[in-house]
Amino acid sequence: MVFLDNASTTKIDDQILKDYVYFSTMHYLNPSAIYKSSQKISEILEDCKKNILFCLSADRQDNFIFTSGATESNNMAIKSFAKNKNIKMLFSITEHPSVYNVANQLKNLGFNVEFINVTKNGVVDIDDFKKKLTDDVGFVSIIHVNNETGVINDIKTLVEIVKNKNENIIFHSDGVQAFGKIDVNISKLGVDLYTISAHKMYGPKGCGGLFIKRGVNIKPLFLGGGQEKNLRSGTENTPAIFAFSKCVTVETHNLQKNYKKIKELNQRLLNFLKSNSMYNVHCDDTTSPYIISFNIKGAHAEPVLNLLEDNGFLVGNGSACSSKHKENRILNSIGLNSDEIKGSLRVSFGKYNTLLEVENFILCLNQITNTYLKNINRG
Ligand code: PMP
Repeated sequence: MVFLDNASTTKIDDQILKDYVYFSTMHYLNPSAIYKSSQKISEILEDCKKNILFCLSADRQDNFIFTSGATESNNMAIKSFAKNKNIKMLFSITEHPSVYNVANQLKNLGFNVEFINVTKNGVVDIDDFKKKLTDDVGFVSIIHVNNETGVINDIKTLVEIVKNKNENIIFHSDGVQAFGKIDVNISKLGVDLYTISAHKMYGPKGCGGLFIKRGVNIKPLFLGGGQEKNLRSGTENTPAIFAFSKCVTVETHNLQKNYKKIKELNQRLLNFLKSNSMYNVHCDDTTSPYIISFNIKGAHAEPVLNLLEDNGFLVGNGSACSSKHKENRILNSIGLNSDEIKGSLRVSFGKYNTLLEVENFILCLNQITNTYLKNINRG
């Protein structure tokens, strides 16, 4: 099976899996237990935290909280600042559902929530952003790399705009599809909060984290034993955290090498798609090479996706989390009509993909699309 849906999840790295098993068996004690042997586990967790902060190029005094994944981190970031209904909260319209649905729920509860439009290229529309960035804004959340289109928002510039307006406005960014893939220097970005997830970077599922800039106060989502300095109760997922820290080291270390390779795969597929009038590529000049979103003109994506699977290729039709929903907010926001949305597929690369796999995928896609379109035209 050729896996071309790496934005939905990634196969755990063999060495990381060994690290996970090692920690599960050799260091299974509860880090909160009173005996001395447990102290060692807490120290290892602290080291993992320091390592991730280091790989994010964060400051020593910044904080990082381990969570069950990006969905929890996003919920925690937003809900911590939903305090006062008079304070405006701004979100880009292309946020992942784990941000968008929280924002919408707050809006329905009477909070002052507004969504920022994006341009045809899928990036935040600066004019609309500046217009909505009024004196009452207290919180902003803008996704770094979009999971459906791969569009990269210029977070550094957006943070500058916000902080020039009022340095007390909290800026959160969902960095799940960015960290470990494109250069992320958290200090240079200037964000207050940044979300990451282990299973998008060859780590275990059910583990992620929230970067918290020094001086920024967040609120716990749930109460309990007071772990993570009372901010995230629940026994720490120690083997997953250990594995997460390891994969953060590996992926940040190999970032340039992997990027170069993925760029080559991306260019090969883009050249094919662009040279063929059956396909329409979405927003390719501002995107991460890891994700290609396109539509097949006059086709429905689902039967094509199923035929591709029958031939050994797994691709996505948008975000895995929202693939069961008929409407597609993200593709809609960049101006695609419903036929184009219905015909849309997403290919997302990972470090295990090869050029040969991409060549074979192109042959298969070409054959399936030609046969499919011929059949509907005949019908
Ligand atoms: N944000 C983005 C941009 C994502 O791609 C995903 C995963 N689809 C999430 C958040 C949710 O991540 P998790 O599975 O770790 O909750």
